This record gives sequence, structure tokens and C-alpha cells, in this order.
Amino acid sequence: MVTTTMETLAIKTENKFRTLVSKQAYKKGEVICAMPSENLTDKPNRFTVQIARDQHTHVGKLAALNHSCDPNVILDTKHMEMVACKDIQKGEELFFFYPSTEWEMAAPFICLCGAPNCIHVVAGARFLPLSTLEQNYLNPHIRETIVDLLKGTKQHLKKLHEG
Ligand SMILES: [Zn+2]
Repeated sequence: MVTTTMETLAIKTENKFRTLVSKQAYKKGEVICAMPSENLTDKPNRFTVQIARDQHTHVGKLAALNHSCDPNVILDTKHMEMVACKDIQKGEELFFFYPSTEWEMAAPFICLCGAPNCIHVVAGARFLPLSTLEQNYLNPHIRETIVDLLKGTKQHLKKLHEG
């Protein structure tokens, strides 16, 4: 096992599978670290987090954050911070809900997190029903995209009625 030390976070690698672990305890609501935003791209990949409609940022060590449908951190792209959304113990692995930042992921996968509310197919917010999305923390660019789609639906329906 390889552990790379970086302030309060450590990346652990086992069988090429990376995990991000907290080296200290956090209370729910505490800011854990700032999100990097100096390396932007207009296309998503495995090492980016979406921070706006057409903006993705390389997140450095935070790329080791795995997905959970019952996460213990959120990535707040408005304030560019990673925040504890549960109390976190020292040595605990950190997880966030990928569709809270990602509209359409470059590398979808099947989730085996075991949470009762597991979404199973993790491909981005675009592929989840509104009833699932509204149970989760969503960043502004995801909420805005959903609202825009709903507006489009309304206009489309109106046209159908007029026709
Ligand atoms: Zn899951």
C-alpha cells in the first residue's frame, strides 16, 4: 500500500485503486480544503470536476475521491471548497456524490456502494430522474441545467397545446 501525504488528506493506492482518506476528524459543515481551479478544461475526464456549464477543473489529489450515493463530503463549486456533510472520523475514506457536480461523465460506471438509495448507474445528473436528484445536494450549474430543461419542456408542451 502506498500512502501519499498531503496536509490533512492522504491518497491510498491498493491494486491500482485509489482512495482519499482524511488524516483528521471533521465535524459536519467544516471546510476540509479548497478545490484547485487553476487548470481548467472545457471537456470532462477522470481527473476533472465540473464547476460550471462548460468548465471542468483538474482537481489534483481530489481526483482520488470516490463516488458514494451516501457521501460524507460535498464539493461546493460556488465557493470552491470541499465540505464535510457528515461527521468524519480520522482515517475515514472520503466520498462525494458525482452527479452533484457532473452533468455527463466521461467515464460512467456501476456503483456498488450498498447504500439503500444507491443509483447504480453513475453517469452524471443528466441520467437521473428528478425525484432522485432532488434528494441530493446539487451545485448551481446542475440545478440551472435542470431548470433550463424543464423550461424547454414547458415551451414544448405549450406548442403542442397550441398546435
Ligand atoms: Zn451507490
